[in-house]
Amino acid sequence: TVQKLRNRLYDTEEIQRKDNRFLHPWELMEEVGSNKRTVTAEAEGIYLYDSEGNRLIDGPGGMWCVNIGHGRQEMADAISQQIMRITYNSPWSTTSGPAAEFAHQLAKRAPGDLNNVFFTTGGSTAVDAAVRLIQFYNNYLGRPEKKHFIAREKGYHGSTYISSSLSGKIRDKDFLDFETDLFHHIPCPDPLDKPADMSDADYLDKTVADLENMILEIGPDKVAAFVAEPILASGGVIVPPTGYHKRCLEVCRKYDVLYVSDEVVTSFGRLGHLFASEDVFGIVPDIITTAKGLTSAYVPMGAMLVSDRIISAFDKDKGGAMYANGYTYSGHPVAAVAGMKNLEIMERDKIFEHVREVGPYFQEKLQEMRDIPIVSDVRGMGLMGCVECLISDGSGGGGEVLAMDYDIGNRIDAHCQKRGLLVRPIINMCVMSPPLTITKDQIDDMMAILREGIEATMADVIAEGLWRPAA
Ligand code: PLP
Repeated sequence: TVQKLRNRLYDTEEIQRKDNRFLHPWELMEEVGSNKRTVTAEAEGIYLYDSEGNRLIDGPGGMWCVNIGHGRQEMADAISQQIMRITYNSPWSTTSGPAAEFAHQLAKRAPGDLNNVFFTTGGSTAVDAAVRLIQFYNNYLGRPEKKHFIAREKGYHGSTYISSSLSGKIRDKDFLDFETDLFHHIPCPDPLDKPADMSDADYLDKTVADLENMILEIGPDKVAAFVAEPILASGGVIVPPTGYHKRCLEVCRKYDVLYVSDEVVTSFGRLGHLFASEDVFGIVPDIITTAKGLTSAYVPMGAMLVSDRIISAFDKDKGGAMYANGYTYSGHPVAAVAGMKNLEIMERDKIFEHVREVGPYFQEKLQEMRDIPIVSDVRGMGLMGCVECLISDGSGGGGEVLAMDYDIGNRIDAHCQKRGLLVRPIINMCVMSPPLTITKDQIDDMMAILREGIEATMADVIAEGLWRPAA
């Protein structure tokens, strides 16, 4: 690959110059025109190569999405063959073999009666489609007032107007508008927020009561659904207390509130199973939203899986219930073929079993970072992990107040990149979700670099007089 790269002669500066016409997601407007992002050039397996020929372990797996790893020839073949067979068909009036087959295969494997698949273009549109379907459903049932949604602080559900309004990350709310009348947020069930004198059982009760109290406050007749990620991903890999989802589902059932499990990150093997809702957390929700690992990012696609219970509420004899929502690319045949091939590879290569085997090793190695004084918390599950360096409230390494938490993740990322690892910095956290094919040896390499990157960052902030470890 490196040889291939050298032969291709990437002009890094030229690409970076032109890239300033590309407004990236979460763009900092003051940096438009002066950004110098790492230019990725090639990729293979768990490795990315930048335009200078440096090999980087793809720590975030793209954005928790390149689940089967980069550069699979059989995926490229399946995709290109489909393009030459039929490039596109309108999903309004026609269908295609790949889209029909993929829907069938997903329904067969989905939990409970989630037997109906609505294809979207990504995760945000899957969440958007779920909210619109639920409002449509309640309007049809003659209860138009039942359309309030409850989500969690620190949750992330996407970037459309609806999905961003459901998201609860405060930092993403500056200067943007959101729907606030219909969308409500309850506290994030974060074990780190548990008061020291509270038992685990009491904290679980409190987090579940947050949901029930919000339903009662709004009025059960007005609450349509609860939307939750099994593990809050972009919020910092927050694993809720054991039993949380089951208890929340019980509360939802009590008040006839639907449960939407946003599995955009946690499905397709990230936690060692196709879907995590039932296999890991023991719940069968009413709707599952998915994307990312659905095609392992070879082409964009998302999906919403809907229960028979919801679909059967629409009276066939009465007619007239048209869910006027969908996308030009809903069920795109090329994306569907990529999804089918992705599923075939995952099952054939026993990728879920592999994650169940290496996941605990990955978590164990990550936990070892706790002995670095600047690290305040390490958490995760399966092949999702987070190292948090929280210092400014004094709880981190027990050191002094530090006014640069926002920069810690970026500093660690820069040190790691120099050593051959890309991490995903989120404020004071480094989030990891490598391709699921990663081996134990590769995990060792990744963790060795991560440790060096964190230690180098710590040495910098000590040398700059910004922080010092507790005496
Ligand atoms: N839901 C969750 C849980 C996510 O993590 C994301 C993206 O990170 C989304 C939805 C939005 O997906 P997309 O970026 O594909 O629109």
